[in-house]
Amino acid sequence: MSANVAAHLALAVADLLDRDRPELRRCDGDGCGWLFLDTTRNHSRRWCDPADCGNRARVRAYTRRQQAARPAASPDSPPSTM
Ligand SMILES: [Zn+2]
Repeated sequence: MSANVAAHLALAVADLLDRDRPELRRCDGDGCGWLFLDTTRNHSRRWCDPADCGNRARVRAYTRRQQAARPAASPDSPPSTM
């Protein structure tokens, strides 16, 4: 599938919705690349779906912070057997 087609479609939709001046943006999600119309007043939206890509980005940022604070001592610790 071509991202170009999606972009043209989104632009066409943006044209139709011109009255509210939505901003065509690309999702910040890693490997997502979806286009969406940011209809927030201050154009602060970053993801196609805050509950999906937004949540994943937040989890990733959280995990990165945790790893930075605590260097991986044993990333591959063997499972404890009983
Ligand atoms: Zn996304």
